[in-house]
Amino acid sequence: MSDSPSSDLAARILDTDRRALARAITLVESTRPDHREQATALLTELAGHGRQALRIGLSGTPGVGKSTFIESFGTLLADKGLKIAVLAVDPSSARTGGSILGDKTRMERLSRNPNAFIRPSPSQSHLGGVARRTREAVALCEAAGFDVVLIETVGVGQSETVVAELSDVFALLLAPAGGDELQGVKRGIMEAADLIVVNKADGDLKATATRTCADYAGALRLLRKRPQDAPGFPKAMTASALNEEGLANVWQQITDLADWRKANGFWQSRRDEQARHWFREEVKQALLAGLDRPAARAKMAELAEKVARGETAAAAAARAMIAALPDLRESLDDG
Ligand code: GDP
Repeated sequence: MSDSPSSDLAARILDTDRRALARAITLVESTRPDHREQATALLTELAGHGRQALRIGLSGTPGVGKSTFIESFGTLLADKGLKIAVLAVDPSSARTGGSILGDKTRMERLSRNPNAFIRPSPSQSHLGGVARRTREAVALCEAAGFDVVLIETVGVGQSETVVAELSDVFALLLAPAGGDELQGVKRGIMEAADLIVVNKADGDLKATATRTCADYAGALRLLRKRPQDAPGFPKAMTASALNEEGLANVWQQITDLADWRKANGFWQSRRDEQARHWFREEVKQALLAGLDRPAARAKMAELAEKVARGETAAAAAARAMIAALPDLRESLDDG
């Protein structure tokens, strides 16, 4: 327990000091070994504060209206007196070198709200790194006493899966679709969604949005019910982020679902399962990083040659490799 935090940074975060929070997030984003060590120490120190934010995952393809939605929705919550943090998971920054979600002009109104804290996506090289950074940033925001942490991602690649595994409630933002065709939403994402919000339900698009919403409601009913689904969930609804319509309903649905899960034991069990998942991921990442060290690569190459020449079976060589890993690590740490 950290009732008396020993480090200044931890104390300031617990005191909802935004600059300390921003500094701590920069620390968890860093890949420098000494920074990693400090970040891990900080997170350990902050563990056990007992604060929980409502973690909302939000995913949607570019142009669907995520920024506009977060701006309107976030302002609605901030004006209710809730403290809201917005984090972004943007795997595209690795590929394009530029971030879709990092644009400074996004969410200008919300960023000026004293109850809001917005953190743009860092440029990270791989999804594993992005996932860890986001998870740790979420933990820091919770320690800092935020009521809601909104984790946003572009609906491309595997980042939605990462965000779904990080959130208490996962919402998918969709656009009104012409025709009666569902928008090629990947099945896995549909299955992860608690809420589908058909945005842009305004003006000429309103009728289409209503029809699209009904289509998705039908598709959701065909999915197998999960134990953590409250009656009527997963649910589809319409909203207009631009006209700020339907947002109070979205908030109502999210809190209803969260309350139901808390009352029925699914809130904490979901978090526990997520924690186990992320622990397993950390072990995998650490093993992969271990395999990437020069001494390990040399050993891999050596064993691969033996396998190629037929001197050793692949399975036996793999076992020898795994057994050698601790020694290879030690020799490196010493040097
Ligand atoms: P993002 O790429 O998902 O973040 O999408 P943006 O929030 O940048 O919005 C993309 C475009 O859709 C912008 O031109 C917005 O003004 C527009 N837009 C967003 N929400 C709505 C809405 O509720 N109704 C309408 N008509 N347009 C919207």
